[in-house]
Amino acid sequence: MNATLRGLVFDIKRDCSEDGPGIRTTVFFKGCPLHCVWCQNPEGQGGKPDCGVCQGESQTGWAQGGRWYELDELLYRVLIDRPFYDSTGGGVTVSGGEPTFQMVFIGEFLKRLRQQGVDTAIETCGFFHYASFARLVLPYLNRIYYDLKLMDEAEHRRLTGQSNRPILDNLARLTRETALPVHVRVPLVPGMTATAENLAAIGQFLRDHNIREVTLLPYNPLWQDKAVKLGLKPQLTCGFMSDEQLAHCTQQFEPENGS
Ligand code: SF4
Repeated sequence: MNATLRGLVFDIKRDCSEDGPGIRTTVFFKGCPLHCVWCQNPEGQGGKPDCGVCQGESQTGWAQGGRWYELDELLYRVLIDRPFYDSTGGGVTVSGGEPTFQMVFIGEFLKRLRQQGVDTAIETCGFFHYASFARLVLPYLNRIYYDLKLMDEAEHRRLTGQSNRPILDNLARLTRETALPVHVRVPLVPGMTATAENLAAIGQFLRDHNIREVTLLPYNPLWQDKAVKLGLKPQLTCGFMSDEQLAHCTQQFEPENGS
């Protein structure tokens, strides 16, 4: 019944240097449980979840804007650059959308990469079923990049469509239960995530959980052109953040006594 395992991918980027150490290939999997109003990859939303709870039931998901890959074909595509990974300490990163939306496929994909000695990383919004993630994906990762957006639950619901409780709980569990490096990334969206209250609250959460690897990601308005080309109407019209805005965000975020 569950024929060949396939994954729905909307982009593959080679020679990436921002999605982990060394030179990497980043695979963007389609589908996301959130609907952030500032989403810079709107083509990555849509699709049906393959969360690992009901394995094998979602192989006929919505393919608009994506392409189905069988496991061997996708492995072939990313292993072409194996010499670059080996010479730079790089590897493969799974991103999205939200890659855990296709938990079974990415678990097998990462497993095969690790079997070949390739460094693996995930970029996740953290909205996943923890037990499935721990069973299917975690054993095959070298590092995790984890987005934290909003600490206020009502604001999180209003601006992403979902509660932040699973995201915060999953991050806390990861820091308690794994020895993997977890690097938190905070998208700075003016007037939304980049407020004094939110940044101070995120900073406090990270200190409470002894998380020290953090990057603030300034809002990039260039995605709005892409949204228009996709026939979407961007919900945000703000431009690039100024140096003063960025400095102000960093001040709000950092603990009073430094860390
Ligand atoms: S979690 Fe990321 S991919 Fe999903 S809607 Fe938000 S910004 Fe877009």
